[in-house]
Amino acid sequence: MAALDLKFPELSFVDGSLDIGRFAQAPMRIYPGFLVAAGVLTVSNWWLHPGFTGMALFVIDFVVVFASVLVHELAHAVVAKRYAVTARRIDFHIFGAVVTFDTSPRRAWQEFAIVIAGPLSNLALAAVACALLVVVHGGLPELIPQGPLRSDVIFEPRIAGRALTFALYLNVGLFVVNMLPAFPLDGGKLLYMLIARQRDGRTATVVVARLGLMLAFASYLLLLVTAIVGCPVWSPPGAAINLNALLAAERDGVPYYLTRPGFPNIVTHGRSRNAATGSRAFSRIAGRAPKVIRG
Ligand SMILES: [Zn+2]
Repeated sequence: MAALDLKFPELSFVDGSLDIGRFAQAPMRIYPGFLVAAGVLTVSNWWLHPGFTGMALFVIDFVVVFASVLVHELAHAVVAKRYAVTARRIDFHIFGAVVTFDTSPRRAWQEFAIVIAGPLSNLALAAVACALLVVVHGGLPELIPQGPLRSDVIFEPRIAGRALTFALYLNVGLFVVNMLPAFPLDGGKLLYMLIARQRDGRTATVVVARLGLMLAFASYLLLLVTAIVGCPVWSPPGAAINLNALLAAERDGVPYYLTRPGFPNIVTHGRSRNAATGSRAFSRIAGRAPKVIRG
């Protein structure tokens, strides 16, 4: 990871983003939405455990969220670099992070490796957190007593256990969510690639977008139910991106990668060049569209 060069965040007065360094030549920027999302995930520590321990847990968990998302994106970028695919920029937004690439991998399995690297990195982080929990506490997280933290002491031994448990659950969650078969998630891309290789880009789009719509409505239901009980939880995918992809594919026969700047290179690997859209549309768009791998 010699190409990674982190620095103290520098605020941009143009868009309010924070410049946190570079991976190779790609600048990494955090937009305010990401800070809000990470804050929503972690700020409950502060009022659940008043005093130093709550504040420490909030800060540690916040850093864990950032580090987990960063590792996910860097995993995409590092594997891509191995195949001479250059990252142009890495942006952290409210719904996660995005790596934008300048070029495309030459082979389908390379594309597959680049996409799967992100979720697998979260699985690896979860395994590390699990191993550390066993070392620190001599047991798995469900065996750790979850009693109240003592806010009257400066050093609370359970802080490490709580933070590691959070890291474990967060990374398992990031793996599961990113592997959901929906646009624009990694799982949606992987399923798309598999179907596009066997059939064509339009069919792959229809299948993934329909699954994405079902998952989006399930996530809205989850939000409704959890909001009623006072702890709102929301998870990607959103409905709009999957609905647009489905309409474009069913109405106009346009596969997802032609309507989005995301992973247009897949068309070169599948049989979709022979699909109803024709190769002319592809070459016109792929010639100028940025290559995006989303977090
Ligand atoms: Zn990803």
